[in-house]
Amino acid sequence: MNITVVGSTNIDLVYLVPHIVAAGETLHSTKHELFFGGKGANQAVTAGQLGAMVHFIGNVGADDFGEQIKQNLQDKGVNIAAVQNVGITGQAIIQLADSGENSIILFPGANFLVTPEQIEQHAERIVSSEVLLLQLEIPMSAVETAANIASKNGVPIILNPAPAQQISDSLLSKISILTPNETELAILTGMKTETEEELFQACSSLLQKGVGAVVVTLGAKGAYYMNHFEHGYVQANKVVAKDTTGAGDAFNGALAVGLCQRSSIKDSILYASKLSAYVVTQMGAQPAIPSSFRVKS
Ligand code: ATP
Repeated sequence: MNITVVGSTNIDLVYLVPHIVAAGETLHSTKHELFFGGKGANQAVTAGQLGAMVHFIGNVGADDFGEQIKQNLQDKGVNIAAVQNVGITGQAIIQLADSGENSIILFPGANFLVTPEQIEQHAERIVSSEVLLLQLEIPMSAVETAANIASKNGVPIILNPAPAQQISDSLLSKISILTPNETELAILTGMKTETEEELFQACSSLLQKGVGAVVVTLGAKGAYYMNHFEHGYVQANKVVAKDTTGAGDAFNGALAVGLCQRSSIKDSILYASKLSAYVVTQMGAQPAIPSSFRVKS
C-alpha cells in the first residue's frame, strides 16, 4: 500500500477563555493546548497508522513548529523526504469559550508557499503511488499539478474538496473519488443537498463532469455515495462523540487505504466509517489508532 498525500500541515494553538475576546479587550486564557493539524497531515497520519506506506509532499515553516510537525509525521509512520521548510508554519489560533463557542484565526503560512515546481520535483513519487490523496488547503495550481501528474500516469486520485471552493471542470474530470461534505457539495454544484433526491441530483451532475465516484460525508448520519453502477447511504457507526474535529480527515485517510486494498467502494466506505466513528470518540484530530484497524500490506 503506497499512498502519496500532497497537502497542508498546521499547528493548532487552542486557548481556553471565559468568552470570545471582544474588540479592544485583553483576556486571560485559563489553559493552552497544542495539536498537530492541517488536513493533509491529518489524512497522511491516518493512512500511515493504518499500515500504508505514506509519502507526504508539502511545506512546514523554517521554524521550531516546522521541526515538531516533521517529527510528528515521522513518528506516525509518514515519510517526510519531500517536506520542505519554508516561511512560517501554518497556524490555527483557536479560542474555545466556556460556552463551547469557538473562533479561529487561520494563518496558512508555509502551506500557501507550495508551488507547482515543487510538486514537479517529486513527480516520481506520485507516479509510483497506488493512490494520490489531495485536499484544498494549498494553492490550487499545486493541486492541479499533482492531479495532472497522477492522471497522466493512471494513478487514482481522491480529492477532499475542503475548504469549500470552486473547482475547474478539467480538475474534476481527473478525480477518481471526490469526498465533499454536504456544504462543500452544495458550493461545488450550486445545488441543494439536503434530501436523498437532492444528493442524487448533485452527485449525478459531478459524475457527468467525469468524476469517477462521489462520497458525501454527512457527520453522524454517515455517508451517501454514487458511482456509475450504484448509489446509496452507508450509516455511521453509533458512538458517543467526544470531539468531531478531523472526522473527515480520518475518513479520507481510511478511504485511501481501502482503495489501495482494491476493496469495493462500499466496503471502503464501511471501513472509513468504522475508523472515523472511533476517531470522534477520542480527543484531537490525530488520535492514536489501535492496531485492530490496521490492514496488512
Ligand atoms: P471535518 O471537516 O470536521 O473533518 P467533515 O464535515 O469533512 O468533517 P463529517 O461528515 O463530519 O466530515 O464526518 C466524516 C465521517 O465521520 C462521517 O461520514 C461519519 O462516517 C463519521 N462521523 C462523523 N461524526 C460522527 C458521529 N458523531 N458518529 C459516528 N460517526 C461520525
